[in-house]
Amino acid sequence: MTPESKPDAFPQLLSRAYEEQHSEIAFIAGGKVYRLARQRLGTITDMLVKETPFGCSMPILFMEHQGRRFYVLPRHGEGQYRVSAPFVNYRANVWALKELGVRRIIAWTGPGSLTPSLEIGDFVLPGDLLDMTRNRSRTFFENKGIGLLRQEPVFCPTLEKASESVLGEYGTPVASGAVYAVMEGPRLETPAEVKMLRQLGAELVGMTLAPEAFLARELEICYHPIAYVTAFAEGVGGEVDDTERRKRSDEAVNRIPEITWSLLDAIPDTPFACSCQDAMLRYKQRGVIGDDFHEWID
Ligand SMILES: [Zn+2]
Repeated sequence: MTPESKPDAFPQLLSRAYEEQHSEIAFIAGGKVYRLARQRLGTITDMLVKETPFGCSMPILFMEHQGRRFYVLPRHGEGQYRVSAPFVNYRANVWALKELGVRRIIAWTGPGSLTPSLEIGDFVLPGDLLDMTRNRSRTFFENKGIGLLRQEPVFCPTLEKASESVLGEYGTPVASGAVYAVMEGPRLETPAEVKMLRQLGAELVGMTLAPEAFLARELEICYHPIAYVTAFAEGVGGEVDDTERRKRSDEAVNRIPEITWSLLDAIPDTPFACSCQDAMLRYKQRGVIGDDFHEWID
């Protein structure tokens, strides 16, 4: 099964070339954050569905807030949840952002908590991934001898620092370094799976950060997720009625615009000291690939 089906329901497909780069920063968002983006994250100046060698990307919003420009890409498509996690075309989305000149990605995600200590509404900076997905296209380098990339640290340390400082400013309870298990979905986890994930050391469970994070590294893009806990996994954290759950999770989501704007100021626009942008360096040094990423997939 390949989730590379071409989305056919989007209102427009643009293939124009953008001569002026809009921004180096993109936010990949889930359904709730995307709805927020359309309502009050800033001014939408354009929207683009980008054709890539891997199919069409989701519509990418070109946004602006008080002179700062950024992109927002809804990974599940327009609306709340047009495409569920296993069918998201992660390769097309990440490739499209790379082609637009994006060098930093903050990925919003609303996982479940596997531990009572991470409560609904909490902000968490995941520090590691357990990739339990099964059927996804997980690399740009199929049938090629490249792509043996280190995953330590798993996420960009520069973006981690910026996110930590911004969340700290807001007095938001924030936990760092959590292990996020990525399940295939679209169904939720069974009680036995929850037990297994806890035994494996996972603290959050979701469906979207893999292969997204790994693909960003393959294209030498800095990537860091920010999670807001939306639920407890099966059998964790006692009974929370649905109204209360929704209230706490919505409160967290409502803080996202301010956090996003602060992140735009906190993310340095000077070259980063992290090694993300050199993920493919050893292949370049060996002469296996050149500098142009388009040629890495030929
Ligand atoms: Zn980085």
